[in-house]
Amino acid sequence: MSIQDIPAARHVKGACGLAPETEELKFNPDLNHTQAAVFGKGKLWPNGSDISYSFFGGTANQQAAVRSVAIEWTYYANINLTQADDHDAYAMVRIGFNANGSWSAVGNGAERIKKGDLTMNLGWIDDSPIVSADNRGTILHEWGHALGMMHEHQSPARGGTLTLKTDTVYAYYRATQGWSNDMVKSQIIDVYNLNNVSNFSKLDTTSIMMYFMEPYLNVENIDVPVNTKLSDMDKAYMLINYPRTRPHPKAKDWTLERALGVAGVPAGEIKAYLGLGDEGIRKKFEDWNIFQRQKELGKASIDA
Ligand SMILES: [Zn+2]
Repeated sequence: MSIQDIPAARHVKGACGLAPETEELKFNPDLNHTQAAVFGKGKLWPNGSDISYSFFGGTANQQAAVRSVAIEWTYYANINLTQADDHDAYAMVRIGFNANGSWSAVGNGAERIKKGDLTMNLGWIDDSPIVSADNRGTILHEWGHALGMMHEHQSPARGGTLTLKTDTVYAYYRATQGWSNDMVKSQIIDVYNLNNVSNFSKLDTTSIMMYFMEPYLNVENIDVPVNTKLSDMDKAYMLINYPRTRPHPKAKDWTLERALGVAGVPAGEIKAYLGLGDEGIRKKFEDWNIFQRQKELGKASIDA
């Protein structure tokens, strides 16, 4: 869906209205940011995929920033990223740098976008050899979408942890982003339906997929800063959803066992995952995860 992702937006000068492109994309369900780590149902690429990407514009600095930052996901996810020639209409991820916001298709939803059209836009990346923390955050966030992650702040696990003050939220995004109430509802207020997510963690306000939030926008007065780094939960979920049998040399301590532990799988159950194969691991984790979260959500509503 669409998407002016807010974190970087506040660094954009002037109004941050929706650009025509974003409007076009708004009603395309494949672009819907619908899923803390929260993964979209059926949105994962096959494990071990070699994902090609192509730049449609961008300066040498901007392109270098994307190359150097996006690769960080591959230390956890068992995927490769390969740069194709510029303007390659058949690259799996097609990246523009139009100055009208940042957004991305979710996972393999990119395959249903017309060849040659963008699947990701990075409108806020500076033309600088130095990659700022905010720029890193934006690139990691949009690539999180490209690998199947959805928005943390719309996680079904939000209930009971973070309660939005809806009237204030509508007014805030209208004033800061120029968003309509429908846009605020679909991008911020609504939580994903359990049917649309394959697995998700407890609400992780440190996730790269979480929008920053001023404390007065929620009842609990939680201040969510602009996250510019991958959280441990982001890493763990990415590793489990794209299972690695061996850790990446750049992240030697991130084994599948550790990732499962970080995600909350009880120590006694972890062994049963090992040797299951890619789909077996994904399936077993998804089953455990949904069962676990539903149990917690059920308990939260009973407590409330
Ligand atoms: Zn987003």
